Amino acid sequence: MQLIRAIYASYKIDSLTREDIESILAASRANNSRAEITGLLCFSHHHFLQCLEGSREQVNQLYNKITRDSRHAEPFIIDYSEISERAFSSWAMGYVPDTAISRELILKYSTSGQFDPTQMSAASALGFLRALTNTIE
Ligand code: FAD
Repeated sequence: MQLIRAIYASYKIDSLTREDIESILAASRANNSRAEITGLLCFSHHHFLQCLEGSREQVNQLYNKITRDSRHAEPFIIDYSEISERAFSSWAMGYVPDTAISRELILKYSTSGQFDPTQMSAASALGFLRALTNTIE
């Protein structure tokens, strides 16, 4: 079974609450541990950006489930690759709150200081997520 990394972005719904985030994280941590999926989730005013790592079967199943979640819309795959090792192996689902995302960091990986992961290359999105690991809750 191949080890896969999928990175996608989506648009969060305007009515998303802190409770929604907590519910997503609680389900993610329980389900992902069982499925041996690791990764990172961050969000800003408009977007989610998430990385999922694990077996092809588990990552595909989870991604299909996530795309049906009404708390976000228009999921957009940025990267889907076979990998030799995980980048986020310590986290069933690490979470980075919007307050931890600085304009300086966004600018390092984007053409502007506005966070729009749909405009990031696969390498930039991965670099950006890796750079966020020291802020994980
Ligand atoms: P439950 O434990 O029954 O669901 C947990 C709670 O979430 C319930 O209280 C319910 O009110 C609420 N909920 C469930 N599905 C929906 C829905 N479609 N719309 C609105 N509310 C809902 N899940 C993971 O397992 N791993 C992940 O890494 C992951 N990442 C996510 C990233 C994003 C950006 C979003 C929006 C969702 C993510 N989810 C993730 C959640 C996923 O879409 C499912 O909601 C979740 O996996 C359901 O968990 P469960 O089967 O244990 O159901």
